[in-house]
Amino acid sequence: MIDQLLEGNKIFQENEYKNNKDFYRNLVLGQNPKILWLGCSDSRVTPERITGVNAGDIFVHRNIGNIVPTHDWNFATVTEYAINYLKITDIVVCGHSQCGAIRALDQDIDDAYLSLWINNARAAKETIDSMEKPAVTEEERKERSCKIEKENIKLQIRHLKEYPLVKKAIKSGSIKIHGLYYNLYDGTLTEILD
Ligand SMILES: [Zn+2]
Repeated sequence: MIDQLLEGNKIFQENEYKNNKDFYRNLVLGQNPKILWLGCSDSRVTPERITGVNAGDIFVHRNIGNIVPTHDWNFATVTEYAINYLKITDIVVCGHSQCGAIRALDQDIDDAYLSLWINNARAAKETIDSMEKPAVTEEERKERSCKIEKENIKLQIRHLKEYPLVKKAIKSGSIKIHGLYYNLYDGTLTEILD
C-alpha cells in the first residue's frame, strides 16, 4: 500500500508540481487560506477535490461526523489558529450522504470512544425523529438519514456559534458561517440554510 502512495507522489511531483513550479514554490513562503473547512473524515468526501480548489486555499479539520465538539482542544486550537492568525473569512461545516457516523446513531455500539463521540450528533437524530413518522420502506429510510445528516450540519453550526471566539468574530463581522451537504449519489454540493 505504501508503494502506491509513494508512486502516486512521484507522478504528482513529476507532473503537477513541475508544471506549476512557481505556484508550489510560492507556498513555501506561507499559507493564506480564507476558508476553514470542518468536514467528515470519510475518505469519499475530499474537500479540495469536490470544490476544485488548490493547495493553500482551505484550512481543514476533519473528524467522524463533521462534529463541532464543545470540549475538544484539537478542534478549538484549529479554530483559534484559523481565526486569530490566518484571518479566515468563512467557516464551512460540510456533511454528506451515506455518513457512517449518522448511521451509527441507530446502532448499539460498545466501542469506547465512537459511542461517546457521536453523542455530539444525537440531538439531530432526535429532532428528525420527533418530527417525522418512522421510516418503513428503504426509500423512507434513505430520506430519514439524509434529513438527519442535514440536521446535523445545522446542529454543529449551532455548536460552533457557542465558541466565544467564533461568537466574537461573527459579531464583529469578520467571519461568515455556511453549511454544505455533499451528495455521494451525484457529486453535488448544496448549501444548507438554517
Ligand atoms: Zn461521514
